[in-house]
Amino acid sequence: MRELKFDVLVVGGGAAGMAAACEVRDAGYTVVIVERENVLGGILLQCIHNGFGLTEFREELTGPEYAERFIDATTTGIEIMTDSTVVEIENANGAKTAYCYSGKTGVTVVRARAVVLAMGCRERNRGNVRIPGTRPAGVLTAGLAQRLVNIDGLIPGRDVVIVGSGDIGLIMARRMTWAGCTVHAVIEIQPYPSGLTRNIVQCLNDFKIPLYLSHIVSRIDGHDRVTRVDVTPVETGSPNYDKTFAIPCDTVLLSVGLVPENELSKEAGVKIDPTTSGPIVDARLMTSVDGIFAAGNVLHVHDLVDYVSEEARRAGAYVVKYLRQEYPARQLRVKPGANVRYVRPGKCDPSTENRFYMRPLVVKNDATVVIRLDSTEVKRIKRPHIQPSEMITFRVTEADLRERVIRDDSVIEVGIE
Ligand SMILES: Cc1cc2nc3c(=O)[nH]c(=O)nc-3n(C[C@H](O)[C@H](O)[C@H](O)COP(=O)(O)OP(=O)(O)OC[C@H]3O[C@@H](n4cnc5c(N)ncnc54)[C@H](O)[C@@H]3O)c2cc1C
Repeated sequence: MRELKFDVLVVGGGAAGMAAACEVRDAGYTVVIVERENVLGGILLQCIHNGFGLTEFREELTGPEYAERFIDATTTGIEIMTDSTVVEIENANGAKTAYCYSGKTGVTVVRARAVVLAMGCRERNRGNVRIPGTRPAGVLTAGLAQRLVNIDGLIPGRDVVIVGSGDIGLIMARRMTWAGCTVHAVIEIQPYPSGLTRNIVQCLNDFKIPLYLSHIVSRIDGHDRVTRVDVTPVETGSPNYDKTFAIPCDTVLLSVGLVPENELSKEAGVKIDPTTSGPIVDARLMTSVDGIFAAGNVLHVHDLVDYVSEEARRAGAYVVKYLRQEYPARQLRVKPGANVRYVRPGKCDPSTENRFYMRPLVVKNDATVVIRLDSTEVKRIKRPHIQPSEMITFRVTEADLRERVIRDDSVIEVGIE
């Protein structure tokens, strides 16, 4: 068995893994990225539409173009192991040992002082949403369809219905239309879309694809291949089957949510947050296991890659501080208040600048994010419009908390008014 030793191991070579590794390398530490695919880039490589990098590069790039800039940045000073999957991480006496399996080179043991988890997320499938009916061919997740069309050059069907209005489904509605297919409808159970507003406009409205809000696909039918779906409106919280109508189709694409990929994290003893399905992290993005950090979609599902890169760079910087044994003197608990689903990270270091990401629970115009320290207002941030599908980011700095009475058990609460 081959054995390698680095200061830092990064698991996953998508946007998050690459940004974290660059930060560690730039501080003079040795770092390896282990990636199960044969190239770096992660999910970006199949996202050939534009809309990436507006914050990071102040340009509108496609996913592969965005990935390429980071891939170029990783070519020197970072060890890259592609075609290798990390199958287990052990943590004994502060040292981390990872077992990496490759079909080409067998098992490699990587020893490191710190680990960054950057494994991204996976799609929820038909089993997760339990749509009744038969089990014909032609039912697949929108991300898989995206890979088939954009990377393998295969069109998975001609007459398409999309279940769920998440961003991947919306992007695929437009992509399948461009590929010559007919997208008959996007069906969304919630009374509001799950994807970004810009994707509703650019991917559905511009192509006159109907979006049925407050509707479910109540049945999938077909013998060998899908032949139709039944669609039922949701009225006052439950399906009204009297109003069910059928849409003939040969393909159903599911865009019903993403789940952070944390089997490896759980095996390593990392505690998982039931709200986000990602690791619980402190102000440094360090998980419940000392020296194991997390960033990107493995931590919580992000809507923009710019946020992933920013968060991962910060994780890399905190790893460097960890290696230098620079720890925050204290960390305050951060909790979601009114109308907020979650805020990450769940801790705040009052001695520095902290950046937070949060998801609202409500759709609201003229909203205000209100940040309080032990019930005393610290900051207000105005937002013209908020909705659950759009992440909100904000900062709490040392200056915001200066001259406040801070106890060790003080709590920062973030609410929306
Ligand atoms: C369809 C779609 C459209 C999008 N559109 C936009 C957009 O228009 N604009 C925008 O800004 N953002 C967009 N995003 C969001 C953005 O692309 C993602 O949030 C971001 O790229 C995720 O980066 P990541 O590194 O966290 O995860 P990923 O890119 O998923 O990378 C994770 C990597 O880890 C690897 N891995 C997992 N487990 C292991 C293991 N055990 N061992 C080794 N390797 C492992 C995987 O192979 C993968 O390469 C879109 C996302 C999708 C899916």
